[in-house]
Amino acid sequence: MKIIVLPGDGIGAETVSVAVEALELISKKFKLNLNLHHDIAGHESLIKHGTTIHAGLLDAVKGADGLILGPMSTYDFKDESKGEINPSKFFRKSLDLFANIRPAKTFPGSGAVHKPLDLVVVRENTEGFYADRNVESGGSEMLITSDVVVSLRRITRQCCERIARAAFELAMTRRKHVTVVHKANVLRLGDGMFIDSCRLVGKEFPQVQIEEIIVDAMMAHVVRTPERYDVIVTTNMFGDILSDLTAELSGSLGMAASINAGVNYAMAQAAHGSAPDIAGKNIANPFSQVWSAAMLLNWFGQRKGRPEFTQAAQALENAMAAAIAAGESTKDVGGRLGTKETGQALVARLAKV
Ligand code: NAD
Repeated sequence: MKIIVLPGDGIGAETVSVAVEALELISKKFKLNLNLHHDIAGHESLIKHGTTIHAGLLDAVKGADGLILGPMSTYDFKDESKGEINPSKFFRKSLDLFANIRPAKTFPGSGAVHKPLDLVVVRENTEGFYADRNVESGGSEMLITSDVVVSLRRITRQCCERIARAAFELAMTRRKHVTVVHKANVLRLGDGMFIDSCRLVGKEFPQVQIEEIIVDAMMAHVVRTPERYDVIVTTNMFGDILSDLTAELSGSLGMAASINAGVNYAMAQAAHGSAPDIAGKNIANPFSQVWSAAMLLNWFGQRKGRPEFTQAAQALENAMAAAIAAGESTKDVGGRLGTKETGQALVARLAKV
């Protein structure tokens, strides 16, 4: 399996290097023959190439089996004409990575103060309120006058149905429960179509129980009774916000793993951002990136019918869980180590698998 690795901005270099070390070891252990190809994107690329996404990078990524993308300082990238392309958007759009799968799980020993949870947010990733990516050309946010802005939200039946299918398929491998989160009381047409699509696709999965909850109430419900949720499917912006909440409820945003999956391609990228407030301090939790990388291996193994990849993914997750239980993790999840030392301890643990 060939994987392109782009470390990203802020804490990216620190967290992605831990994921790379873990992957290199697990590759040897499970004979995965991983070929990790290192390149750059984001600020480093802007300095070196005058653009956050250099010429040829997309072709290189398409020629690989998967991508590891570190967190990006997307807020800094405002003007595409100056090479400031949002890399996260760029790959999601260019590779049509429509399903953003974001698990949140309480690991024993993580010091999480909240009730235990084990759920997955399945977020539509290619349209919705994301005005910079929901039109073919240009943006869908407009300055009408200097005092008036209109931001358009796109919802299509095709995107609703395919994200619903991803959620129901995932639920079939879990506790067979899907919660549809929406705002159809206000966005009657767009979220009405989203709900209709989920109900329609749900009929193909009669064993899966389906419930519908309005997004604002969902914020209270998931705090109050997180154990009630298994797979949560929702539109782009709601999923982005809700998944930060569920990650933090599980212990820390530093555990927020995710993959962005399309039909033929997947990208592993932690759900959080570049965390400039802690960058370079050796305190960022690398497990969000390690877990994302494990999810990428699992995705590849399932698609290709390669059990050694799914076993390697499980071994990575188990080692991460054991490390947290032993305090061999960063402080945000109750541990006593720095980022680098957490990586070293994880690799030492994996060596004994
Ligand atoms: P953030 O997610 O970077 O950070 C929010 C808080 O969580 C901070 O206190 C941070 O220290 C903490 N945190 C994040 N990751 C952590 C980790 N691994 N371990 C421990 N703590 C962690 O959000 P922000 O500060 O609002 O955004 C910073 C930059 O990241 C902005 O430019 C934003 O646009 C960008 N961003 C990018 C992505 C992406 O690339 N997918 C996602 C979100 C934000």
